[in-house]
Amino acid sequence: MVTKYIYSSSQSIVTVSDRANPSQTKQTEMVISTPQQSQTPASATVPAINKTVHYQIAILGGGAAGIATASLLLKRDTSLDIAIIDPSDQHYYQPGWTLTGGGVFRIEDTVKQQRDVIPQQTTWIKDRAIKLDPDNNAVITAAGIQVKYDYLVICPGIQIDWHLIQGLKESIGKDGVTSNYSADFAPYTWELIRKFAGGNALFTYPNTPIKCGGAPQKIMYMADDAFRSRSGVRQRSNVMFLTPANTMFSVPEYSALLDGVVKRREIEVKFRHNLKAIQADTKTAIFEIFDNNGNVIDRVSYKYDMIHVAPPQSAPDLIKQSPLAIPNNPYGWVDVDKYTLQHNRYPNVFGLGDASSLPTSKTAAAIRKQAPIVAENLLALIGSKPLLNKYDGYTCCPLITGYDRTIMAEFNGYNSVPLSSFPLNPIKERWIMWKMKTTALPWIYWHRMLKGEQFEGDYIKFLQWKK
Ligand SMILES: Cc1cc2nc3c(=O)[nH]c(=O)nc-3n(C[C@H](O)[C@H](O)[C@H](O)COP(=O)(O)OP(=O)(O)OC[C@H]3O[C@@H](n4cnc5c(N)ncnc54)[C@H](O)[C@@H]3O)c2cc1C
Repeated sequence: MVTKYIYSSSQSIVTVSDRANPSQTKQTEMVISTPQQSQTPASATVPAINKTVHYQIAILGGGAAGIATASLLLKRDTSLDIAIIDPSDQHYYQPGWTLTGGGVFRIEDTVKQQRDVIPQQTTWIKDRAIKLDPDNNAVITAAGIQVKYDYLVICPGIQIDWHLIQGLKESIGKDGVTSNYSADFAPYTWELIRKFAGGNALFTYPNTPIKCGGAPQKIMYMADDAFRSRSGVRQRSNVMFLTPANTMFSVPEYSALLDGVVKRREIEVKFRHNLKAIQADTKTAIFEIFDNNGNVIDRVSYKYDMIHVAPPQSAPDLIKQSPLAIPNNPYGWVDVDKYTLQHNRYPNVFGLGDASSLPTSKTAAAIRKQAPIVAENLLALIGSKPLLNKYDGYTCCPLITGYDRTIMAEFNGYNSVPLSSFPLNPIKERWIMWKMKTTALPWIYWHRMLKGEQFEGDYIKFLQWKK
């Protein structure tokens, strides 16, 4: 292996592998010293370009989608020249954050070093993309590196818009305010649940699309179990779920099942309620109430002793401010064809994962089915062949409904029809699915999905339950 080191500035180093012999190269790279990506949007200043590098394929975002796609591409063709742009040292298994909040996993159980999951034959540009310039086939990073590409796969995940709830940024992580939507706060959720002595426990859902739409209520069912396990705590408590929606879930069959769960657990559900503000000094949460047409008709406030907030979310500002976003869309998703995952206006760009416009539920499970479509279609494009592979909207949200049960809510997000990868009716709480969620799925994520291995359900297709 030959490795070239290129110094792009006094603080930044890019290591570029030997292009003459790409199949023999090992993953190497480093761009250091630019600020880590924050989950809070900030206006980014585009630096002067001090270096230009070129790759056949640039993948923006080394999360679930980026790593799975890179691995799938390399499984099909080891000679591909791929760069992954991502500033983060850590790679998180985010579905584990619900289990951290519920005291089942430690936060350390949900993370690996990014260097250990990035495929060896790629170049890792360890820097934050700051500008997208698809008209010039370029991504510009915070350190002033212009990454030119022939093909771009864009998957930088979703942006958490903490700032859209007044008082949330200031109050989160202390005095009873928490959220599993960040590795920083998921451990605090468990601390609150564990120490809860009674009072009002509120669980909220925002009025934007979010990743894992079931997560805001999964943690509530675990909390309810934990309160019941301690003498007298649940009797002294009022557990409430407040959501702008009209139903518990987007798929009617699963929603009906969840209606039964909240009833059994005596949880008070407030539909058409949207969290607007947290007043930490008085431990008060303020909600807008909508009518059936979405008009705000009232405001109401509730005192809380603990509140789990699912924050508003949108595409990263980087995308919103670029030509790759859906025009005039407030969330700014990457504008891709819902079947081929090819960009609707820039044919050499593909998008998948949470940042994409795909009208399905945003989950890692969905990416499990999207990544192979991107890999196949991108290779077809490189080979000047038609894009024949189509994503069907598959997604899955394992709905934990207690410490020993889960509804494995698989469905087609394009038509809201339940599906199953198992020979079992999915519209049921099951112990075996709790075991899947807590043991099998994390293993599959690290050892199969990120390595580009085939979807497990495909092996038993002929046995699968169908509606
Ligand atoms: C609490 C919680 C529970 C969940 N539960 C489940 C579940 O049970 N099942 C399930 O399937 N899914 C679940 N999910 C959702 C799942 O984790 C996401 O859908 C999935 O991680 C999205 O993958 P992604 O690659 O699109 O984004 P991510 O995995 O978030 O990765 C995005 C990557 O892009 C990088 N990046 C961001 N901005 C830039 C930039 N400007 N430049 C360069 N790199 C950048 C980031 O550093 C990151 O590495 C859950 C999520 C949460 C938060």
